[in-house]
Amino acid sequence: MVTTPLLPSDYLDLVSPLRAGADLRGRIEAVHPETGDAASIVIRPGRGWRGHAAGQYVRIGVDVDGVRLWRAYSITSPTNRQDGRVTITVKAIPDGKVSNHLVREAKPGTLIQLDQATGDFVLPQAKPAKVLYLTAGSGITPVMGMLRDTEFDDVVMVHCAPQPHDVIFRSELHDLVADKKLRLTEVHTDTDGMLDIARLDDLVPDWAERETWACGPAGLLDAAEEHWTEHGVQERLHTERFRPSIVVAGDGGEVTFSTTGKTVDADGATPLLDVGEEAGVLMPSGCRMGICFGCITPLKAGAVRDLRTGEITEAEPGVLIQTCVSAAAGPCDIER
Ligand SMILES: Cc1cc2nc3c(=O)[nH]c(=O)nc-3n(C[C@H](O)[C@H](O)[C@H](O)COP(=O)(O)OP(=O)(O)OC[C@H]3O[C@@H](n4cnc5c(N)ncnc54)[C@H](O)[C@@H]3O)c2cc1C
Repeated sequence: MVTTPLLPSDYLDLVSPLRAGADLRGRIEAVHPETGDAASIVIRPGRGWRGHAAGQYVRIGVDVDGVRLWRAYSITSPTNRQDGRVTITVKAIPDGKVSNHLVREAKPGTLIQLDQATGDFVLPQAKPAKVLYLTAGSGITPVMGMLRDTEFDDVVMVHCAPQPHDVIFRSELHDLVADKKLRLTEVHTDTDGMLDIARLDDLVPDWAERETWACGPAGLLDAAEEHWTEHGVQERLHTERFRPSIVVAGDGGEVTFSTTGKTVDADGATPLLDVGEEAGVLMPSGCRMGICFGCITPLKAGAVRDLRTGEITEAEPGVLIQTCVSAAAGPCDIER
């Protein structure tokens, strides 16, 4: 009664936000610029943090202009970091709300929401004899988490970035090369052009024998999956995507967010999460690529299309949809 309308835990949150038993949070303790548009954020997780496996990602909730936005970031620190802190490394993308906020405005002391680390882009228990890391742009992040975590006898990395100064972690990678812990080929796409996957035969002649972890833009990953499959070694390729592969789009429709009372026209290719956010509707979100289910929302009426498969879901009592990978398939009503 004394603390109403707040709860006693709300007061505890003020003095001890990272305590055991509180919602999992983290405190930003440092921000280290990596390149002109990327920075590593050092986070002290709360007591409930259960650790991570190299290559996994964490969902973080950040307040940007008063709105809590959730995004996924790969963990770039090793699992055995002595001080218990973790790092993520974020590349600011044009018009990106969270990435620009983290790279350019995040300040030590800021509290963020955290989820437990998750993801199956991880190293196996048994060490493979030969490893290939194939990365591009910010796709280097989960692999850096692996490189910092586990040493292998024979590791080759092919990394693509527009120019040398865009290569995140470049000096650390070159130190590993100098220590003979890594063989590295940098592809500078501004001068060399995009990596033609067939060039791997020259760059890494034994690529097909290597257990491979690849992360980068969809074009690179699609080409790699096709190439590994054509050569019958697809089980050696592990990929991590930062965005869903949108393969199917159809006709859109009028979308009603009945709780908020907003109605907008949407095309058949834009995820309903983006449609809602654009209309100013408070939408739950997570990985924004259909893997974490942080965005699920009841579909009250109408139909939506899964942009990855083309599958249509029609409204029925209790039907939930993933708004980050679903677009309007005719008029529909989303319970937000
Ligand atoms: C498993 C996983 C791990 C990830 N790890 C990292 C990481 O380690 N480092 C990192 O920088 N990012 C990572 N991401 C991407 C990250 O979650 C965000 O998508 C990214 O930071 C953009 O968010 P934003 O709020 O700045 O952009 P938004 O405001 O959401 O989008 C702005 C514009 O950019 C487009 N866009 C959104 N995401 C991307 C993208 N990834 N590439 C190109 N265009 C995009 C949108 O369609 C929109 O037009 C990861 C994503 C996943 C799913």
